[in-house]
Amino acid sequence: MSKNFKDEVLSRRTFAIISHPDAGKTTLTEKLLLFGGAIRDAGTVKGKKTGKYATSDWMEIEKQRGISVTSSVMQFEYNGARVNILDTPGHQDFSEDTYRTLTAVDSAVMIIDSAKGIEEQTLKLFKVCRMRGIPIFTFMNKLDRQGKAPLELLAELEEVMGIESYPMNWPIGMGKEFLGIYDRFNNRIEQFRVEEEERFIALNEEGEIEGEHSIMHSGLYDQTLEEIMLLNEAGNEFSRERIAKGELTPVFFGSALTNFGVQTFLESYLQFAPPPQPRSSTAGEIDPLSEEFSGFIFKIQANMNPAHRDRIAFLRICSGQFERGMAVNIPRIGKSIKLAQSTQFMADDRSTVDTAVSGDIIGIYDPGTYQIGDTLTVGKNNFQYERLPQFTPELFVKVTAKNVMKQKHFHKGIQQLVQEGAIQLFKTVKMEEYLLGAVGQLQFEVFEHRMKNEYNTEVYMERQGSKITRWVEGDEVNENLSSARSLLVKDRYDKNVFLFENDFALRWFQEKNPDVKLYNPMDSE
Ligand code: GDP
Repeated sequence: MSKNFKDEVLSRRTFAIISHPDAGKTTLTEKLLLFGGAIRDAGTVKGKKTGKYATSDWMEIEKQRGISVTSSVMQFEYNGARVNILDTPGHQDFSEDTYRTLTAVDSAVMIIDSAKGIEEQTLKLFKVCRMRGIPIFTFMNKLDRQGKAPLELLAELEEVMGIESYPMNWPIGMGKEFLGIYDRFNNRIEQFRVEEEERFIALNEEGEIEGEHSIMHSGLYDQTLEEIMLLNEAGNEFSRERIAKGELTPVFFGSALTNFGVQTFLESYLQFAPPPQPRSSTAGEIDPLSEEFSGFIFKIQANMNPAHRDRIAFLRICSGQFERGMAVNIPRIGKSIKLAQSTQFMADDRSTVDTAVSGDIIGIYDPGTYQIGDTLTVGKNNFQYERLPQFTPELFVKVTAKNVMKQKHFHKGIQQLVQEGAIQLFKTVKMEEYLLGAVGQLQFEVFEHRMKNEYNTEVYMERQGSKITRWVEGDEVNENLSSARSLLVKDRYDKNVFLFENDFALRWFQEKNPDVKLYNPMDSE
């Protein structure tokens, strides 16, 4: 390594992009990678569009769905920073893994389609970021199309998400009349669709164009100045500290498709996004600059190669430096293991990684040893990082073994897959039936597939539809409160949980039973 260890760590920026499908995540990612020189052509990120990964032999379901593991983590360098982007799959691929990915980042970029405003999946992912207090940078996309008024979009952030915002720049018009952005932060105007040399117009100390410029003849310029004045007077103040705490989101307007505003966004982002942050463990906070290696596993991708039944565990490095072949401890089982096979993920290739430092994400070969949430340490260290949060499942199926003779395999399989964090298990209180809970349909499909292939057990899964899941505070609860519309079940730690048919059933239950205290682990406040 050319730089010393400390500089290497401090140059890391590790983030995930959170958005609703179609907001422009892929497009923005591609543009970022282009700036970083990590890819040469746009269209490389999503394997399903180019068919580029057709030869990879990932798990069947993944092939069918076109999920590409290669794009799970992307790395590039820009202005001396080393950027790691973690993918958060959307659509049907949404799963607990998507949420868990957010435990491995130091910040998040939230893309909002400015015509649609805040959408469901963005909100869900936002809540997880909120829960973790990580800084969020907002990119209001598709300004080249007619969308909602910018002030309305800011109001949505406050009202729907409860987060304050600071617009770093402001659009001058939009859609057919989109002229560019008024860049408050750099005190300049960036013009849309002009020659490179005309791109920036410097502003004077009052934040206005000095002298004469054609853009001033558009009524949109005056309107923008008025809005800027309003923001200066009545808007939130810029605060680096509040951004770092995730209380204030810097907002950028732009258009990923036309690559407008993306570079300005990237440069400001790198300026304010945090380097690797300390992490709580059983031995207190671990400093990312500490030279003793440690990390934790936040995702396990199974059966990437069916011929070998191998798995890749995704490791977030939290301190020190990883070196290929190093021996590490797994404190959970008190064992030591040699990290011989390791992979770094790139947009268009997987390459072997020899060294990586705090903040980086690497893939390590998993012979079936790891569980999601496992801590890896070196030497005498045997601390463990805090347990990954529990995510509230929304979809449920009742599961049974097709062949009653296979009960043993069935139980072993369920137990291991649940421990690994692939799916959540609940037992009904009265009938002792098994219910599986997930945040996305894909988790059930992966479960079914793995039960068959790894535990030789075919399962019946009876859909129970979506439910509102609420845990009960304390250990006592009257079992007679269980009904079809408010089903009482136990989670795998034997905690009481109610599954409500819908919002109405939840409210009705709360009114009738005010002394039963319910909570959702994903509500931060
Ligand atoms: P993802 O599902 O969030 O990854 O979204 P994509 O990046 O695949 O974009 C979804 C669609 O929106 C595609 O047709 C893109 O070409 C389009 N899109 C993305 N960014 C912009 C933009 O800035 N302006 C316009 N007009 N379309 C965009």
